[in-house]
Amino acid sequence: EVRVRFCPSPTGTPHVGLIRTALFNWAYARHNGGKLIFRIEDTDAARDSQESLDQVVDGLTWLGIDWDEGLGVGGPYAPYRQSERYDLYREVVAKLLESGHAYESFSNAEEIDARNDANGRPRAQGYDNFDRNLTDEQKAAFRAEGREPAIRLRVPDEDITFHDLIRGEVTFPAGSFGDFVIVRPNGHPLYTLVNPVDDAVMQITHVLRGEDLMPSTGRQIVLYRALIDLGYTTFVPRFAHMPLVLGEGNKKLSKRAPEANLFHHRDRGFIPEGLDNYLALLGWGFSADRDVFSRDEFVEKFDIADVNPNPARFDQKKAESINGDHIRLLAVDDFAERTIPYLQAAGILGDTVTEAERVVLLKAAPLVQERMQLLGEAPGMLGFLFTDAASLTYEDDALATLTDVAPAVLQASIAALEPLETWQTAEIEEALRAALIENLGLKPRNAFGALRVAASGRRVSPPLFESFEILGKQETLARLAKLDA
Ligand code: GLU
Repeated sequence: EVRVRFCPSPTGTPHVGLIRTALFNWAYARHNGGKLIFRIEDTDAARDSQESLDQVVDGLTWLGIDWDEGLGVGGPYAPYRQSERYDLYREVVAKLLESGHAYESFSNAEEIDARNDANGRPRAQGYDNFDRNLTDEQKAAFRAEGREPAIRLRVPDEDITFHDLIRGEVTFPAGSFGDFVIVRPNGHPLYTLVNPVDDAVMQITHVLRGEDLMPSTGRQIVLYRALIDLGYTTFVPRFAHMPLVLGEGNKKLSKRAPEANLFHHRDRGFIPEGLDNYLALLGWGFSADRDVFSRDEFVEKFDIADVNPNPARFDQKKAESINGDHIRLLAVDDFAERTIPYLQAAGILGDTVTEAERVVLLKAAPLVQERMQLLGEAPGMLGFLFTDAASLTYEDDALATLTDVAPAVLQASIAALEPLETWQTAEIEEALRAALIENLGLKPRNAFGALRVAASGRRVSPPLFESFEILGKQETLARLAKLDA
């Protein structure tokens, strides 16, 4: 059985690269009928926060990424928060020490540097395995000085090779890293220990994670082998390192860039279908001629082996265009419903939406659904339908389009519309064309441009005659009169 994991450290806001990792693990589990385990790596009390964890959960839930074991769900390896698993880590460390896989090390950074300098060894090579064979007397002497040891894992002097499912064979040549710290002198276990210990104990079969973690993989394999020796597991998982996500200027998408934050995209009006689709494209492709696909299609076709090892650039324009495609695929009432929070956030709708407002929204939805790439465009496109003539305001660039024929257009339109008994798009259009194009001999752009400004206060709006129908006769006439005044 495939068992993959998503194991964020709850610091900061959810980065789109992190969420891409979650999405790929999820798709791999679903494609293979396996399990996704959601574990929280909260061993850094100074940086971890509940707020950050809540945000990750909110983000995953919003995107439809669900998990089979872990936070909130439980499972056979509970608890799934590392901060609640210290007993296990203490037990493992005791066994590693007892079996000689790990040892106590008293060297501090200055001592290591000084020895390296004295031995003509570059400082950058780090620890020199000096404490490997300290005698009990030596250790006792250090302790008598009041020093506490770090615990280091003994690294065998041999190449470490593994087959990365995306990158192929990767080798850490013998001597690439020294015996590394797994527990700090203050007793605190490190990521290099607890992450593989949990993966081993939880029987994770595939570790799919960001390329930035590649440097730790060699060390983790060494630890894994020790854990096999101690009977904690029987196998080393397969590894796959997913490409970096780049931002502007083809540099790694920095945590501080606004577009690195998942919620930035939600706030702008990405729908989960659209963002899932785009995040999938950060390193993966559906086919050469198709960029838009559903979540089911993604799961059906996804294979980790098809992920491209090259960095993936987060292309805002492309993301928006894909989101627009998914917006068009929504049923119109679903689409209308999803614009509501954006209309509320803009103050156009109140906390409770009235029945009358819903009716207007449902009528208007088909007029704008085709034109929107982000739901955040809804307030600008639809706001004029939820105000009245008295409060309507005009944008400057809209007023700037008015020419000196505007008063004649407005007066002729009022005269043509007033007698109409049937207030529907076709009749409205017919009456206005007769009055403005045929009688006054105006160009449609001049004639209808002024009406658009009158109705919406904007230069661009949903289709004009349909908008008039939705506004209703009285309101339309009031708006025409207002601009004329
Ligand atoms: N907690 C680690 C992180 O968020 C997990 C890394 C991994 O997937 O091994 O970076």
